[in-house]
Amino acid sequence: MNNTSIQSLQSRDKAVNWHPYTQMKTAGDAVPIVKGKGVYLYDENGKKYIDAVSSWWVTLHGHAHPYIAERVFQQLNTLEQVIFAGFTHEPAVQLSENLLQLLPENQKKVFYSDNGSTAVEAALKMCIQYAYNSGKEKTKIIAFKNAYHGDTFGAMSVSGRSVWTKPFGSMLFEVVFIDIPNAENLESLKIQIRDLAEETACFIYEPLVQGAAGMLMYEAKHLDELMKFCRDEEILMIQDEVFTGFGRTGKLFAANHLTEMPDIMCFSKGLTGGTMPMGITTCSQEIFNAFLSEDKYKTLFHGHSFTANPLACTAALASMELLLQEETLSAIDCINRQHSDFSKILSKHPDVENVRQTGTILAFEYKTDQNTSYFNQIGKVLYDEFLERGIIMRPLGNVMYLVPPYCITSEELNFIYQNILEVLDAFKNPDHCPTDAADRE
Ligand SMILES: *Cc1c(COP(=O)(O)O)cnc(C)c1O
Repeated sequence: MNNTSIQSLQSRDKAVNWHPYTQMKTAGDAVPIVKGKGVYLYDENGKKYIDAVSSWWVTLHGHAHPYIAERVFQQLNTLEQVIFAGFTHEPAVQLSENLLQLLPENQKKVFYSDNGSTAVEAALKMCIQYAYNSGKEKTKIIAFKNAYHGDTFGAMSVSGRSVWTKPFGSMLFEVVFIDIPNAENLESLKIQIRDLAEETACFIYEPLVQGAAGMLMYEAKHLDELMKFCRDEEILMIQDEVFTGFGRTGKLFAANHLTEMPDIMCFSKGLTGGTMPMGITTCSQEIFNAFLSEDKYKTLFHGHSFTANPLACTAALASMELLLQEETLSAIDCINRQHSDFSKILSKHPDVENVRQTGTILAFEYKTDQNTSYFNQIGKVLYDEFLERGIIMRPLGNVMYLVPPYCITSEELNFIYQNILEVLDAFKNPDHCPTDAADRE
């Protein structure tokens, strides 16, 4: 069969591929991307798209970065993969050393896996088995409402219940969901936690920004207070930095906004600069020590075939080198400042509400009559409009957000900002005139 050259990539794709988070019956054709360079992706007709969402929040330094490519290529010719049980290699050792240096000082050990969900699975198992190994009956878990920690069963269980988890509802383990903290609810959250403390193994949270929930943001000082309380109540803390890690929040990690330290941390997404899949779970010496025993049953029996894959480790090493360069750190500051300036303009727009920003993450809501939700129809309309304009945005319902690669120039950012304003005007909602009294309810 040699019809591949005549058939378009789109129709071949339709024939064989099942895309993530996609209703395949109604989905339009997938955009066939043939090349990436910097902030741009190119389709087969040569049209270029500016990647305003860093390809699902993973790309840090732009697509096909030559330095990362070169390093991975060298590693590919040296050692592509080796079993990580009983064996080790330079990229894994170096990466663990480099990463631990940047994390809160209590983080001492690195456990490798393949993606954000598996990093969370490993973290949950560490907490549950920490209690088990210590002979304690602690199996309850506390998480935030609207949390998102991944799509595997454990990660789904600790994520907020939603349309995404509905078919599996009866199979997810029980989790106590609490509100994200603010000045008003902190004391009542503490009472809730205290009541559960005795049976609770851990508290898992996305620090400062709940990404998939629609970029919901909350303050570091309130999280700090909650963390301190959990520490006092001997509840282990899992800080899921899968999204917030590696510069996204304006500092290297969300942890750098906090004074309290978590027991366990999870990383993926930006870890390899968006080049290769990899997950990391780090933990304190105390967690690690609870697994040290003559008793084989106290071992952490968890691992994946590609644990600490040398190519992924090398991509992460190269990406972290780029991240720590003065140039990149100041680029992150620049994005932060420009987002902040644009926020002020957006806030005054009659069709926009709830403008919020943390570092390189900017989000706002398009006012609609429908509820703010993932299924809000406007999301799809806006998505298509931006795509037409050569901008990849992926609204979460009526929540629009920008999570650009750090190599984006101010001109490119302004291009996106300008288009946002144009699209808002083009879609001007006559029901949402600011002088309309009903609108203020
Ligand atoms: C994306 C995400 C995950 C899941 O990561 P995957 O690599 O998609 O499995 C977990 N936690 C947070 C906070 C995320 O944003």
